[in-house]
Amino acid sequence: MQKPIIEVKDLVKSYDNFNAVKSISFNVYQGEIFGLLGPNGAGKSTTLEVIETLREKTSGTVIVDGIDLDENPGAIKKIIGVQLQSSGFYPGLNLLELIKLFAGLYNKTVDPFELLKKVNLVDKAKSKSKELSGGQRQRFSIATTLINQPKIIFLDEPTTGLDPQARRNLWDLIREIRDNGTTVIITTHYMDEAEQLCDRIAIMDEGKIIKLDSPDKMIDELVAGGFERPKQVKAANLEDVFIHLTGKEMRDE
Ligand code: ADP
Ligand code: MG
Repeated sequence: MQKPIIEVKDLVKSYDNFNAVKSISFNVYQGEIFGLLGPNGAGKSTTLEVIETLREKTSGTVIVDGIDLDENPGAIKKIIGVQLQSSGFYPGLNLLELIKLFAGLYNKTVDPFELLKKVNLVDKAKSKSKELSGGQRQRFSIATTLINQPKIIFLDEPTTGLDPQARRNLWDLIREIRDNGTTVIITTHYMDEAEQLCDRIAIMDEGKIIKLDSPDKMIDELVAGGFERPKQVKAANLEDVFIHLTGKEMRDE
């Protein structure tokens, strides 16, 4: 049932004398949303970039969908989708033109409108990326990860800086992508996001994985250990108030 699609074993990445990733091992299962959490500098992006074939590892093994990174990084590249930095979007091109350009780079033919429909941006087809709001730009950059119909997509802090509505909208999109059969690896600094979105999470600190489990199990374990919140927990939080007052619908359309 739970088939690993990514197998990382004893992965080490050093930059000169500095060990950014210190022998970590983990599996990501097919069809799950897997979260990498940890403070800035923990080694999350480095880990993702090694798996994405964008950075050379120092040692260890990485196997993606049965393909050994040491043997055939090109084959791995073909089955993964990596979020491009929005700064990499040519400012003069509109969304349709950008999709056609990226599809050409992947040697794929795609229906740009169908792709834009998936991320709810059809009416922005003729807009340039600089004319999009933050949430729209993130949705477009997620759309670009889907161009080569990947088995796995990598999202490095896709919701950083977004307002609560745009963030929730992106969660729906990410769930939809997973429900359509794509495995998702995501990093985030938002714990509520990880709790709601991720099937399992690995917590990294100083280059090591210090915990790996489902959010539910981690919380249950903490509580079973006698942990109590210092403050009485209310039935709602400030974000609930905000969403209740301002509505769930997107504002940036
Ligand atoms: P995270 O994504 O968890 O914030 P990173 O993987 O970006 O962490 O970085 C992990 C550590 O490696 C940090 O201390 C960072 O400064 C260092 N680092 C990242 N990239 C480089 C690089 N190209 N050269 C040297 N050090 C780097
Ligand atoms: Mg990072």
